Amino acid sequence: MRKPLIAGNWKMNLTLAEAEALAKAVKTSAASYSDRDVLVYPTFLQFTTAKQALAGSNVSVGVQNCSAEKDGAFTGEISASQARDAGAAYVLIGHSERRHVLKETDVFLKQKIDRVLEQGLVAMLCVGETLAERESGKAEKVVLDQLNAALSHLTPDQWQKIAIAYEPVWAIGTGKNATPEDAQSMHETIRKRIAELNKDIAPKVRILYGGSVKPDNIGALMAKPDIDGALVGGASLKSESFADLIKNAI
Ligand code: PGA
Repeated sequence: MRKPLIAGNWKMNLTLAEAEALAKAVKTSAASYSDRDVLVYPTFLQFTTAKQALAGSNVSVGVQNCSAEKDGAFTGEISASQARDAGAAYVLIGHSERRHVLKETDVFLKQKIDRVLEQGLVAMLCVGETLAERESGKAEKVVLDQLNAALSHLTPDQWQKIAIAYEPVWAIGTGKNATPEDAQSMHETIRKRIAELNKDIAPKVRILYGGSVKPDNIGALMAKPDIDGALVGGASLKSESFADLIKNAI
């Protein structure tokens, strides 16, 4: 019932020409699959170029962040309404690099979720524990606290526009991914919590895994019942590996 979703997070990488070439390659690799969704998150500066290169394809384009404010004097920010105006379908919220490096708080991320939902876009909320939190047995509590803070106020309609990415911080860009069993266990915990908030929506929300996902480990992850896709950083930047990720995603 949940269609797999493979998302490439390009982070702060690629020139404009490289982003255009990668988008064209993704268009080709995704074209033969109607049983899975593909999404890319370019930088803001590359967004329109990537969007144009993907025109007429089955690949969605999202932005990696948006402001917690609606509009106005917020130098350097972009609003959810500007993201919608430019053609974004998704907004990534609370990536661990923003939580930890840029110190974005749960309160701030909840505001961003509200801005995204006001625009009718899909908010993809990232949650995940650090290594110290996992080793001290707090992983589930940390993840559920992040989830509750950002999403527990949502109405049933708003839940239709939510995706979640579980990304253990210690697995991002490190080559160490969670085992499919550990990832499944956290995904199941997340889905149970969503069911407590809204039992009808829980089976419908897509929960992606992220953190060192590669073409050779995506299959085992996706075989787990509560893992509905992948949010991929490093391996989404090369057209061949992203093509293999899309291919191996089921
Ligand atoms: P990675 O990044 O695939 O390079 O580990 C994932 C992410 O940060 O979304």
